[in-house]
Amino acid sequence: MIVMKFGGTSVGTTESIHSVAQIVADAVGRQAEGVGDAQQRGDREGCNVVSRATVGRAPGVLVVVSAMSGVTNTLIDAAQAAAASDEAPYRDGRSQLLVRHQVVAGQLIEDGVERAGLGRLFDNRLQEFERLCRSITVLGELTQRGLDVVSGVGERLSAPLLAAVLRANGVKAQFVDAGELIITDDDFGNANPLMTPTVTRCRDRLLPMMQSGVTPVVTGFVGATENGVPTTLGRGGSDYSAAILGAALDADEIQIWTDVDGVMTADPRIVANARSMPELSYAEVAELAYYGAKVLHPKTVTPAIEKKIPLRVLNTFNPTHPGTHIVEKTRALRHGVKAITAVRDLRLITVAGRGMIGVPGIAARTFEAVARQKANVLMISQGSSEQSICFVVPEPEGEAVIAALKVEFARELVQHLIEEIASQPDIVIVAVIGSGMKGTPGIAARVFSALGAQGINVIAIAQGSSEANISLVVLHAAADEAIRAIHDTFELGTE
Ligand code: ASP
Ligand code: MG
Repeated sequence: MIVMKFGGTSVGTTESIHSVAQIVADAVGRQAEGVGDAQQRGDREGCNVVSRATVGRAPGVLVVVSAMSGVTNTLIDAAQAAAASDEAPYRDGRSQLLVRHQVVAGQLIEDGVERAGLGRLFDNRLQEFERLCRSITVLGELTQRGLDVVSGVGERLSAPLLAAVLRANGVKAQFVDAGELIITDDDFGNANPLMTPTVTRCRDRLLPMMQSGVTPVVTGFVGATENGVPTTLGRGGSDYSAAILGAALDADEIQIWTDVDGVMTADPRIVANARSMPELSYAEVAELAYYGAKVLHPKTVTPAIEKKIPLRVLNTFNPTHPGTHIVEKTRALRHGVKAITAVRDLRLITVAGRGMIGVPGIAARTFEAVARQKANVLMISQGSSEQSICFVVPEPEGEAVIAALKVEFARELVQHLIEEIASQPDIVIVAVIGSGMKGTPGIAARVFSALGAQGINVIAIAQGSSEANISLVVLHAAADEAIRAIHDTFELGTE
């Protein structure tokens, strides 16, 4: 069986939902004929076919769906406004969302009974949304727990809608709320799945459906605690839902349907000849996502990786494109460099002073102070002279981190053991990514000479011992040029 996850843009309009229905109907047909999707696509890689136990597995397709594009933001904004006594956004939101979903139903579903049923469902969900927001206004307070109920409404509208559209296209589809399937802890807003009860629920609820030829259409993003309290898996969490469900059911493949032709070698808005990569390893996609390619959050692929389930990133708007296949091991490339990404809006902070030499504990104290501000450290570098440690944090946390460091090292600053706590705003981390760089000499040299030839100054460098990522800090103004220069030097635009 395969899991097919459709993101917000894939279900954003009547036309795109219509394409989704066709894509799913085709896949359901192929599964029924017993033709695996990978075979159908004519994959070249024999080595990636992982044999898994077939016990308890069902044929067929499981669909996971996000809210229509922009809906989750509308819901969250409305709830936040409600807490600040502004009731207009949720009132407007309710009617806008009703119209938006009803228009699609009106255009894609002919059966009057089906349409009326959906209309009532939309109405009930949105009434509940309005009631929730009203109580948020009365309380004047929005808790994470309350927000999880509100922000999950979008998927609870889009999934029943897509299920009905699929039925209108001849697919035996049935809506299932993930609150019944994905059991999580109570870390509201960012809940973590509890796999043991989740696996049991998924098998009990979904396998009989799939064995009888039904295609479940499951809400992405949402789950519930063991006591049934609604939770969400974090923004963009529908990919995570797909991986959790795929792992629970031992899927053959998890497909992430989005609005681009897979994972690109660089941002196509910056690099004209950026192209989609046919194949990536789990390790590479983790580095890429971490460094801002925003394709798949590393956390979201973990359940798939643990079970070695291949992932495929595909384009709803160009469904015949083979997309990117993400597997455990990939074939080696000439030089091992696969992609270049960037993270922006960062600040470089440097703690420097001769009094740091040979003094243990400075790094620990530095990062404890940073952690107290709950700032995320994206990169760290310290030269062997030990006269300075520099690290990178998101710009919005920059000031607070510096203030915390000045307090932490107040005594050392007075005694000039630490001479300065400096900061450089407006920097970008450019990351060169590829597992095949490991053990390949000369890559760093090529990166630096490409940058040198363009007169681009590198402020700091870091490479983890995994050697799958070389990170460079450059000024914001030089970042795009740096990305283009590295992309060119490794000829990533041509296969
Ligand atoms: N609708 C949710 C969000 O916008 C989840 C998702 O799209 O993956 O964050
Ligand atoms: Mg999304």
